[in-house]
Amino acid sequence: MAFTNWKELKKMDAHIHILPDAVHEANPNAEDVWRYADLKQYRSMMDELHIEKAIIMPLNDSWLMSMEFTVHAVHQNLRAMKNQYPDKFYAFADVDTRNTPAQSVDAIIQAIDSYGLDGIKIHPNNTGIALDDAYNNPIFTLAQQRHIPIAIHSYPNEEHDVSATERIVKVAERYPDLKLIVSHMGGFQWARLRSIGCYVDMSAILPDYVRTFGIAKTNEILRAFGVDRLLFATDYPDNRVLQPDGIYNAYFDMLNQMDFTAEEAERIAYGNTKDLLG
Ligand SMILES: [Zn+2]
Repeated sequence: MAFTNWKELKKMDAHIHILPDAVHEANPNAEDVWRYADLKQYRSMMDELHIEKAIIMPLNDSWLMSMEFTVHAVHQNLRAMKNQYPDKFYAFADVDTRNTPAQSVDAIIQAIDSYGLDGIKIHPNNTGIALDDAYNNPIFTLAQQRHIPIAIHSYPNEEHDVSATERIVKVAERYPDLKLIVSHMGGFQWARLRSIGCYVDMSAILPDYVRTFGIAKTNEILRAFGVDRLLFATDYPDNRVLQPDGIYNAYFDMLNQMDFTAEEAERIAYGNTKDLLG
């Protein structure tokens, strides 16, 4: 019972990865999916897929996002990507935990105020620092004070993983006014997130839910969060099972089988992310 054609719908992908050209040039023989994380190539797909805008997420790993392995170089690269195609991309600021918490806060302030970046990304599994570790407190304080959207990677492999949803709940209780996006919906620990007022992005996890639970139950999981908290997102070009060039069609096919009305689909595909970016 498809109410909406998700391919035709105007969309914002709230979670993609693009590597700077300098990183591609330094690794010309890379054969992995990251070859697809290319700005020009991505821009050339957007119109046909009706992706009006996308948020480029950093990885909390400066070696992947720059050839000069500093958080400042990563932020400069993200700014350059945004500027190359004006009004097409947003980008979230990175955190390099080799720096002190105060240095990380300063780098974020510079990224937002001087470079025009749009949010903050925390990836506990790439840094090895648990989400609720004291290291992150000044970052959460800043994000809450300034109403800066903050996206947290959460696709936990075990109960008490560094990105486990129990830690997200703790953070949300300590910082109740955070503009919080939980990327990958907390994986299979999603149920714990229903009690907090976070947004969830369906990147990477949607195909896993559908393989595990089927369409109807996945539709119920999405509905349990409420239409206003769901963000369309893919994690392109990264996926545990799908090839990069199959990701979007697989997402459209799954979402076409769900019961979202045209108006609800518009919120999920575009409106919620647009509103939260302000
Ligand atoms: Zn990602």
